[in-house]
Amino acid sequence: MIKVYLKKKISRRVENGHPWIFGNEVDKIEGDVKGGDTVIVFAHDKKFIGQGFINPQSQIIVRLLTREKSDSIDEFFFQKRIQEAWNYRKKLGYVENCRLVFGEADQMPSLVIDKFNDYFVLQTLALGMDVWKPAIVKALEEIFNPKGIYERNDVPVRELEGLMQKKGFLSKPFDTNIVINENGLRFNVDIENGQKTGYFLDQHDNRRAIRNIVKDADVLGAFSYTGSFEIHAAHYGAKSVLGLDISENAVNSATKNAALNGLENIVQFKAVNAFDILKKWSKEGRQYDVVMLDPPAFTKSRETIQKAITGYKEINLRGMKLINKGGFLVTSSCTNLVPPKLFLEIIQMAAKDAKRKLRQVSFQTQAPDHPIIWDMENTNYLKFLIVQVE
Ligand code: SAH
Repeated sequence: MIKVYLKKKISRRVENGHPWIFGNEVDKIEGDVKGGDTVIVFAHDKKFIGQGFINPQSQIIVRLLTREKSDSIDEFFFQKRIQEAWNYRKKLGYVENCRLVFGEADQMPSLVIDKFNDYFVLQTLALGMDVWKPAIVKALEEIFNPKGIYERNDVPVRELEGLMQKKGFLSKPFDTNIVINENGLRFNVDIENGQKTGYFLDQHDNRRAIRNIVKDADVLGAFSYTGSFEIHAAHYGAKSVLGLDISENAVNSATKNAALNGLENIVQFKAVNAFDILKKWSKEGRQYDVVMLDPPAFTKSRETIQKAITGYKEINLRGMKLINKGGFLVTSSCTNLVPPKLFLEIIQMAAKDAKRKLRQVSFQTQAPDHPIIWDMENTNYLKFLIVQVE
């Protein structure tokens, strides 16, 4: 077995539970290393730390899978881990659709599996996890007897690991346009061509949180994608709902989803740039009772964090200007690079510039099928805020 020894003078992050080891934290490696191999990690004083997988090509050279000396990393190990992840979701009532595996938060770094009823979509985002793909597929088959398994590994981060981007079937081919149920509504999910894994499950509980504020309201939703928030608003009794997305494909799929739920007379979608149109409409004096914003991350790296701050501030400022006195802003941010405290500060700056006063109604995060591990920043990523705007 390959042995990795850490340097003496490094932060205690890894010893305290973080699963990532950076190349510059390694003192020496004993044995011939091939990318993807299982390794045992020791502290400088030869104290056992854990076992994980190595990729000398990646900045994160080792990702730990276990802190147990007695575990052997094999097919059975992954079956056990996936079963544990499933038990947790079942316990919390996420049975039909859920994020079945949320990487580090389920002690399976770089593995994402979304369960859409009988269909499973997975991403293996590190080399050491990618080599276990057959074992993972086998475990899914044994535990769930699924109707289909698909890989959405068409993600640029794989290239940092020396992996190709790809997507395709990991089971017998099946029709990748499926319909899921959420909160009593139905949504088309395009497993092959949808964004990320096809549908954003992380907001499934937050979509219910708008229930009371949208009743009898004129609602504007920007960054609507599948139209999920907007269709929920119509379902919960909104007078009118308009959803905006820059992508024609997204607007088409949202329009289909509105019809699927018989709500096409209440909710409409339009393909436009939300930044431009919100500015135009606030100049024209348009007003809504509720404005909902769910923009993309705006940045992928810490270096360009200012870009994200500017983007969030700008869109929230424009959104607030469109809200009636006493109306509500429902606003999200999906990047862990903007932590909750900073997000609230950005919203406060926007309110100041818009000359509006806010009352916090609720502040939530992603649903419990995406559990958060303290000290692993990337697991704490979604902010979902409802404020009343005076
Ligand atoms: N609200 C959705 C998720 C939104 S994802 C849900 O609940 O599932 C973000 C969306 O913003 C994407 O669909 C993307 O096409 C859209 N988008 C990105 N930039 C935009 C812009 N400038 N104006 C409008 N939509 C934009």
